[in-house]
Amino acid sequence: MNFNFHMPTRVIMDEDCILKNSFVLKDIGHKALIVTGAKSAKKNGSLQDVTEALRKAGIDFVIYDKVMSNPTVNCVYEGAKYAKENLVDFVIGIGGGSPMDAAKAIALLAVQDKNKEELFSCSFENKVLPLVMVPTTAGTGSEVTPYSILTNDMAQTKTSISTPLIFPKLALLDPNYMKNLSLTVTVNTAMDALSHSIEGMLSVRSTTFSDMIATESIKRITQSLDKIQIGKGITSGSNITMDIREKLLYGSMLAGIVITHTGTSAVHSMGYSLTYFKNIDHGRANALLLPSFLRFVSKNEPLLVKRILLAMEMETTDEFETFFLHLLGEREKLTMDEIERFAGIAIQAKNIVNSRVVPDKEDIIQVYTRSLHL
Ligand SMILES: [Zn+2]
Repeated sequence: MNFNFHMPTRVIMDEDCILKNSFVLKDIGHKALIVTGAKSAKKNGSLQDVTEALRKAGIDFVIYDKVMSNPTVNCVYEGAKYAKENLVDFVIGIGGGSPMDAAKAIALLAVQDKNKEELFSCSFENKVLPLVMVPTTAGTGSEVTPYSILTNDMAQTKTSISTPLIFPKLALLDPNYMKNLSLTVTVNTAMDALSHSIEGMLSVRSTTFSDMIATESIKRITQSLDKIQIGKGITSGSNITMDIREKLLYGSMLAGIVITHTGTSAVHSMGYSLTYFKNIDHGRANALLLPSFLRFVSKNEPLLVKRILLAMEMETTDEFETFFLHLLGEREKLTMDEIERFAGIAIQAKNIVNSRVVPDKEDIIQVYTRSLHL
């Protein structure tokens, strides 16, 4: 057996954990930049809890709340400028993947002058502002990863910045902030997390250790998704119990630890074009492609696929597909021209070779076609 496991983020999960642990923030810095989106952190109470905890701990702060979904490079440069002007010494990201990923890039650019090429080629000096993360969706797992995914208009896709410098120092997980998430956002983000754990198991970098975490994550998320399928009494996000919310948050954090060690693979490579060009939500994009991709992998690695299905208490890839189709509802459609173009982009993505069974362009075309050319 061999593995290399490193997870430097302190994770505290509890209801009201921010207020209960305000003293922990004192060890991190004296003036915080809070990075968040325009609305949701105000609505779900997370921003108020963070500012209250900072006041309680006697820590000064400023707020940058201009992060849009799928944040652009310009957005993080603007945030970094704001961080420099205000002389902050740590960064708190509050939100879904977008604000958390933006916070990471801002924490780097606040202390390093790097142009766009340098940013995406990850050539950094060894300095960064410490990061604290407060996830308000259960999907990206960004609170425990060394990745920041930004929209890269030069490459017309999303590009990942990957450096251990942006591992958060602290992650504060409170499922209460997810109480009012819509059913659609809950399902999309959960499918993203599920995809992280499944792709982690399909990765060449998977180990016994990462598989153990992935299996636990897949179990928790599948059980939760099974309960919130349409037709099982849940008609809106507010019907989802706190027990399910908690399981999803735990499962997505575990999935973040998985991709920290394995990276994402072909499904994410293919999904990025659906988000960039067709504006399909990131988690949904992965979920649209997963069943066909799993079917493709099962031709070469049937036992590996069996282990994933077992964690989901399923026996066949047909069962897996039915489960996803139920959650996805009516699927988006692509033309064959779009499929050709997206396959051309996906085949160049750096995480495609991460797959245990590497698809060629023809295989990618087939997965897109089966998933979205109906
Ligand atoms: Zn993802």
